[in-house]
Amino acid sequence: MDMNEHAIRRIVIVGGGTAGWMAAAALSKRLDRAVEITLIESDEIGTVGVGEATIPHLAAFNEMLGINEDEFVAACQGTFKLGIEFVDWGQVGERYFHPFGPHGHDLRGVHFHQLYLQESKRRPLPDIREWSMSAVAASLDRFARPPPDARLPLSQLAYAFHFDASLYARFLHSRAEEQGVRRVEGKIVDVDLDGATGHVQSVRLADGRTIDGELFIDCSGFRGLLIEQKLGTGYEDWTRWLPCDRAVAVPTPLSGPPEPYVRCTARAAGWQWRIPLQHRMGNGLVYSSAYQTQVEVEASLLSRLEAEPLAEPRHLSFTAGRRRLAWNANVISLGLASGFIEPLESTSIHLIQVGITKLLALFPDKRFDPAERDEYNRQTQDIVEDIRDFIILHYKATRRDDSDFWDYCRSMEVPDKLGARLELWRSKGRIFREGAELFGTPSWVAVLLGQGFVPEEPEPTAEALDSAFMADALDKMRMSYRHMAEHMPTHPDFIARACPAGPPGA
Ligand SMILES: Cc1cc2nc3c(=O)[nH]c(=O)nc-3n(C[C@H](O)[C@H](O)[C@H](O)COP(=O)(O)OP(=O)(O)OC[C@H]3O[C@@H](n4cnc5c(N)ncnc54)[C@H](O)[C@@H]3O)c2cc1C
Repeated sequence: MDMNEHAIRRIVIVGGGTAGWMAAAALSKRLDRAVEITLIESDEIGTVGVGEATIPHLAAFNEMLGINEDEFVAACQGTFKLGIEFVDWGQVGERYFHPFGPHGHDLRGVHFHQLYLQESKRRPLPDIREWSMSAVAASLDRFARPPPDARLPLSQLAYAFHFDASLYARFLHSRAEEQGVRRVEGKIVDVDLDGATGHVQSVRLADGRTIDGELFIDCSGFRGLLIEQKLGTGYEDWTRWLPCDRAVAVPTPLSGPPEPYVRCTARAAGWQWRIPLQHRMGNGLVYSSAYQTQVEVEASLLSRLEAEPLAEPRHLSFTAGRRRLAWNANVISLGLASGFIEPLESTSIHLIQVGITKLLALFPDKRFDPAERDEYNRQTQDIVEDIRDFIILHYKATRRDDSDFWDYCRSMEVPDKLGARLELWRSKGRIFREGAELFGTPSWVAVLLGQGFVPEEPEPTAEALDSAFMADALDKMRMSYRHMAEHMPTHPDFIARACPAGPPGA
């Protein structure tokens, strides 16, 4: 990067959780060595200590850092994730799969899910997951990396990772230090502002040290030490749409080989996660404290574990929402400091990645052009709100009426944009991806159909296709996914060959 008199030369990252170390590793990789990066973390405060599932985009972040994927998976006790199995969401007793990657192929310009809807009118079809390469592989507990040749069905397989987030932070920490980041251990007790500009000028540690900077990245977790406690940026509360505000997490030993997917099971006042890593199973329950007590939820979680807990249950509270400005003055908030959407679709770590990528794309100089900041905030708001709506969909599109919590979710008002989308889907099954939206048509289709929200009819272009041609094409696609999956290695075999982790704690 070109260094001039206005160039930023001192960056201070506040916090050493996943957000702090991702920012440190990426900024030190992408900025000139002349920029001094200091990361401050407090051993006394520690990190949030959860966050085990990701989405496929993380591979691009690791690639930007020059990280070898097998080395990363092994270092983080990682496994591969092909999607999420949702249990009891539409109705108790039902299950569906939200895979990464598409369902089938479009034919003659008609979307695959429209073909599926049309053909379902003629004959009973299996679940749409049978047309997803990732979902079929997941159902057989198999995994292989997709080949680059787009003509092969296996190229439609898309994957992410399950990992131990604290090991990921440690992994990035060593890279960041190698790239010149200075780590400071200490507790920040005060933040000083420049009286003229209102910008943060320095932070003071409990031992009296002062660390000053020109650009501050607030990765201090839920407390938002700079962005909220000092700058009073404000928080938009989304509890009326996302009523879950608590979680309890507990690890257990694996009771079998790790599956290549997360399972999310809806419960009376929230949902339970199950995330298989190489060395343990991550379990937790996200719930609404307005409908169940901590004692009830903890008992419910512990009674459903597949093995004895490895640690005491860990309780967390949060408020779904976003910081009104992700970037305020000379402070950019990342991770939990910028807001939180519950982990149902594993989007938080992705939002850290998005924040870092956007910051690099709009990197300021010491003049802090408001146009850059406004653009950053506008783009961030758009992406976060789109993710929020997709998460709300899981709650709204339920037929469950067995608890007050689900009665509330089923009948709640939703944001206007989501409401309009659901109406468009209701009549002819139309879903359009907008702008830089994260979740595309296959994701919406998986959740809507999976939760039993079937449109009234397919769109006319699907009805106009030759029926014998369509039936034959659908059958062939389905057979090719199954055939391909049956010839893939099992997930444990793939890991054992490519990226086995050492014993825990090694
Ligand atoms: C229940 C739950 C489950 C989740 N599951 C997932 C998931 O599956 N996938 C996913 O993508 N995300 C998930 N997340 C989110 C994920 O955990 C976070 O996005 C991620 O860990 C980033 O956290 P962080 O770095 O922002 O904050 P933290 O981990 O809280 O780190 C904050 C840092 O700031 C430091 N700090 C704070 N105050 C001070 C101070 N005064 N002085 C010095 N240092 C200070 C702390 O010491 C720490 O180093 C989950 C979150 C929750 C609550």
